[in-house]
Amino acid sequence: MSANESAQERLGQGVMSTGEGMRIFPDVEACIDCGGCVVACKRTWDVPVDDQRIDITTMLEGVEGESGFNSQQVSAIEEGMSPGETSLPMQCYHCENAPCVSVCPTNALQKKDNGFVEVVDDLCIGCQYCLSACPFGAPQFPESNEGLTAVVGSGGTMDKCTGCEERQDVGKGPACAEECATDAILVGSSGEIADELEKRDSGAFFNDTAMEIIFGDDAEMFDR
Ligand code: SF4
Ligand code: SF4
Ligand code: SF4
Repeated sequence: MSANESAQERLGQGVMSTGEGMRIFPDVEACIDCGGCVVACKRTWDVPVDDQRIDITTMLEGVEGESGFNSQQVSAIEEGMSPGETSLPMQCYHCENAPCVSVCPTNALQKKDNGFVEVVDDLCIGCQYCLSACPFGAPQFPESNEGLTAVVGSGGTMDKCTGCEERQDVGKGPACAEECATDAILVGSSGEIADELEKRDSGAFFNDTAMEIIFGDDAEMFDR
């Protein structure tokens, strides 16, 4: 087995590659709402109790459906199919066309060349514009007003999923993705994620507008 192959095996099926150009995206057909990702994130980064860098949203709770339609929930319902209970891991997807970056008045949110969307704590004034702009509920405001955030006074510096950039820099997968028992959090290039979803006969779940926000031109790679 080559070094690359053994590294791939160690990372697991959900984590296909790490670092430069990484994308992170859920497979809703695989998520079983166990909360393992939430625990892994909190344990790894010592996230405060009231803060969630990742959360699971469950729709159609308790509804048994035909299998294979959860990832196309809206179109399935429109076509008379029955998707069942669907759980969606919500975290920062480090969007290609990030609306949070566009609205931040102080440049505290930055899309970096390596693909990660970073919060520069010292520049954040706590205005919460990013919370309104993010379609995925990623920005969190768990702390009291300190430093520049006292100017606006709306709940402290923004915190969100970092993509576990520090782990990815040393070849590890994000803690949430590595902990996930069903490999429901996919990490890799856009193409790797699109191929993996296709292999699993799963779909992209989000509508076209959301996919273009997350993946930009690469949204075309995904079956919808
Ligand atoms: S819009 Fe939301 S999910 Fe996208 S990069 Fe910004 S905080 Fe993350
Ligand atoms: S809360 Fe902070 S990161 Fe969010 S838009 Fe305002 S200044 Fe930018
Ligand atoms: S990528 Fe890292 S910071 Fe983001 S939710 Fe997963 S464990 Fe938490």
